[in-house]
Amino acid sequence: ISVMAMINVHAQRVQPAIPSDPRIEARIEKLLNKMTLEEKIGQMCEITVDVVTDFSTPDIFALSDAKLDTIIGKYKVGSILNVPLGVAQKKEVWADMIHKIQEKSMKEIGIPCIYGVDQIHGTTYTLGGTLFPQGINMAATFNRSLVRRSAEISAYETKAGCIPWTYAPVMDLGRDPRWPRIWESFGEDCYVNAQMAVEAVKGFQGEEPNHVDEYHVAACAKHFLGYGVPVSGKDRTPSAISSIDMREKHFAPFLEAIRAGALSLMVNSGVNNGMPFHANKELLTGWLKEDLNWDGMIVTDWADIINLCTRDRIASTKKEAVKLAINAGIDMSMVPYEISFCDDLKELVNEGEVSMARIDDAVRRVLRLKFRLGLFENPYWDIRKYDKFGSKEFAQVAIEAAGESMVLLKNEEHILPLAKGKKILLTGPNAHSMRGLNGGWSYSWQGDKADECAQDYHTIYESLCEEYGAENVIYEPGVTYNTSKGALWWQENEPQISKAVDLAKNVDVIVACIGENSYCETPGNLTDLNLSSNQKELVRALSETGKPLILILNEGRPRIINEIVPLAKAIVHIMLPGNYGADALASLLSGETNFSGKLPFTYPRMINSLATYDYKPCENMGQMDGNYNYDAVMDVQWIFGTGLSYTSYLYSNLTVNCADFKADDELTVSIDVTNTGKMAGKESVLLYSSDLFASLTPDNIRLRKFEKIALQPGETKTVTFNLKGSELAFVGYDGKWRLEEGDFHITCGGEVVSVHCTETKVWETPNI
Ligand code: BGC
Repeated sequence: ISVMAMINVHAQRVQPAIPSDPRIEARIEKLLNKMTLEEKIGQMCEITVDVVTDFSTPDIFALSDAKLDTIIGKYKVGSILNVPLGVAQKKEVWADMIHKIQEKSMKEIGIPCIYGVDQIHGTTYTLGGTLFPQGINMAATFNRSLVRRSAEISAYETKAGCIPWTYAPVMDLGRDPRWPRIWESFGEDCYVNAQMAVEAVKGFQGEEPNHVDEYHVAACAKHFLGYGVPVSGKDRTPSAISSIDMREKHFAPFLEAIRAGALSLMVNSGVNNGMPFHANKELLTGWLKEDLNWDGMIVTDWADIINLCTRDRIASTKKEAVKLAINAGIDMSMVPYEISFCDDLKELVNEGEVSMARIDDAVRRVLRLKFRLGLFENPYWDIRKYDKFGSKEFAQVAIEAAGESMVLLKNEEHILPLAKGKKILLTGPNAHSMRGLNGGWSYSWQGDKADECAQDYHTIYESLCEEYGAENVIYEPGVTYNTSKGALWWQENEPQISKAVDLAKNVDVIVACIGENSYCETPGNLTDLNLSSNQKELVRALSETGKPLILILNEGRPRIINEIVPLAKAIVHIMLPGNYGADALASLLSGETNFSGKLPFTYPRMINSLATYDYKPCENMGQMDGNYNYDAVMDVQWIFGTGLSYTSYLYSNLTVNCADFKADDELTVSIDVTNTGKMAGKESVLLYSSDLFASLTPDNIRLRKFEKIALQPGETKTVTFNLKGSELAFVGYDGKWRLEEGDFHITCGGEVVSVHCTETKVWETPNI
């Protein structure tokens, strides 16, 4: 790289996404000058709440003075996370606890503590707050304003418990259906993830990230980087992402989140091509802090510095692990149970192994976050003004989001909508479970407390009774999950299939709610992606009754169901729609509302053909010696973007304003969409491009834009997209962004137009 190019790269670096506030910077410097090394290191340390909670007293919130003396008095810890007793608490309980921590912190160090919680799909951990559908559902809505609104409400309700920081949004690309966290993500596509991440960040933080107001919280974009594609499909196991894919796809949502003002970021627990992310200086310092000049704060994931030694074995001692991580660019260590981090880091500084400049950089970032949140002025606050907490207004947004997220995958003979007055057999292990509807991160980490904590909401059984009349709904699960103590989330009881089959004789239609019980993270690992054999058997036996069968898929990841798909007349994928999911489903089934969700991931058909929609196909390999058919084409159950509705849409007149373009040109692409059916509906219009030939095998097809529109029967709307030439660029073999001269197809709703790029352009800057 030439000197000129270096200078250019630097010139690009100096413009941070959010210009810092000089008044805040001055306060940081003043404070930093007065701080001792111990105080600085304490700010880089985050402890879990059960360390400061005294379990020996009946009142768990009576934090023992001895413990607070150790954590805040002795170690000057700057941050605390997580949930007392691991289960959601009332907002008043939160506020009292945080009040106590803050008083101690202000008295001892004069710096507020920053408290963080995983409010993943709404107020996961605040009782009575609004639980939205999980991330995968939010992506299926393709509705930016619902994502924005749900994050705003989550922020408001989080603040109502005096909590200023949330570990969300999750924006890992969910590109492997086996991965147990795919439901936390916005699905497989990097553009969808980037767009939704921007909405979530702005919804959480508001428009003024330098001065977050009393109704917003700091977001924590996670998990940086490439967490969603472990080779084994199991959580926290190694990945093998190329540097090209890392830059082009996995980085895209983080780049946009940072440009939208994300104030903090959490690192991926995993290891890529042998390098743990927590020790990856190129990514943490290079990509984030230098290339983007980002001044936010980087926190580790759970115990991940220690993991560099005990799990990843790139450090032979915990102290060496601390050195590697801090020198790579970590600013705050989530070190549950390992306060020795503080002692180790102090020794490393005294030995010259970690520079004072690095410590100061990290502490500036921690303090900056606290100043931006206004915690110095208001370390805690009066929570009585949060009078919209858990309100009907907020619930309405959650119902809308749940309804717009559900995907109609099959509807033969117009079996749906299901007329009132029909007799229904409701069956399957997910028919009467709040836990199933919510998934993990719901009242507790594994979501296993949802049935106790969400009694004010409806299960599918309860909502169908309301919609169709209790006298018309017969409930017999046939298969149930084993919820006894010590059982694993996926274990089932002895099935009672014949009971369900007998009852089916007296009904008009069978609705089978199948899928998964809740789980989260590593405990959700699977050895078989097939739906459980009990559940498949239930469906098979019921289909033999000859009664029409509707399948409701209530699952966090797509379980393989190819054998039972042909047995059903209709299939609805509700994923994990949250507390209001059943109400939303009942009105969709009865036709009061219309389906508009589309799959944000590709649903696999066979375990050996897991592929994403942009899969690079080898179709032309075709036949060898006339005998062998290379099975390299994609063989999926339902591709990304699939989603039917009760009405039909006609796409026509796809036009582009000019056939030739260069990198800096903006193409105006428009398409007419007409509702040709009899029911009003919403349609997500998805615009794709394909690069026909390139110096690296191009992706088959890539989503470039989307817009959701509402259409009355007979109505036509013209949707216009502005697509920059540079948005069709890719990362080349040398790691540089490039757009190449040649032909592209632009496709939308089955229509195709060709455009031609007239130049080849290579960017010297890492991000365009
Ligand atoms: C998860 C993170 C989460 C953290 C704190 C970790 O196990 O990977 O997503 O934010 O715990 O609860």
